[in-house]
Amino acid sequence: MTRFAYSAIPLAGSAFLAWAVRGRSAAVFGPSVWHGPRGRRAIALTFDDGPSESTPQILEALARYDAPATFFQCGANVERLPAVARAVAAAGHAIGNHSYAHPYLFAHGPSAIEQDLRRAQETIQTCTGIRPAWFRAPFGARWFGLAKALKRLELTGVMWTAIGYDWNLKAEGVVERLARRTANGAILCLHDGRELRVDPDIGETVKAVRQLVPMLLDQGYKLETVNRLLCPTT
Ligand SMILES: [Zn+2]
Repeated sequence: MTRFAYSAIPLAGSAFLAWAVRGRSAAVFGPSVWHGPRGRRAIALTFDDGPSESTPQILEALARYDAPATFFQCGANVERLPAVARAVAAAGHAIGNHSYAHPYLFAHGPSAIEQDLRRAQETIQTCTGIRPAWFRAPFGARWFGLAKALKRLELTGVMWTAIGYDWNLKAEGVVERLARRTANGAILCLHDGRELRVDPDIGETVKAVRQLVPMLLDQGYKLETVNRLLCPTT
């Protein structure tokens, strides 16, 4: 990273840096998509931090409605639960890269960031046969070096239109929060794991998905993978 970029930050102020790192539409550390086209009544459900022991419950809830989704998997979790990662792919869902070890990117230099993303990319591809085209930053936090790593790995950053806070809220709160923010082209973020935790409790997320999916379908939304939402003609 250049000297200029580092020295520019204190001048710009910490509010700017906070936005650059976490703002859903910020492109300072590389472009990220956070919304699909508003002209179609379609949305994308996305799940981060998996696979986990409970991912099959999410798959079951989605299968009930034939609803495709996108799973941003962590390489370390894929390595731990390869059969679950493969089940996600076999069910027809899209798989994105959510890093290997779920690090805070700002604790690392550009080469470590690229190494982590590449390791996730290779682990996911080896296990599922899918080479991800999309990347979601751990904690939604981007950093120096990320843009270059994404370019080299041919990944596009994807943030979200609305996030469920499903690691914190009860299912009803998650559903209410997401339903209120859903509109044409929305990308909704939930979690089928909790970073790299073994056997995490995602019970509220499972409950939320069971309520949310039929509710959105009733409202006329089509559920699509991120690929389909953002590239409807391919
Ligand atoms: Zn995450």
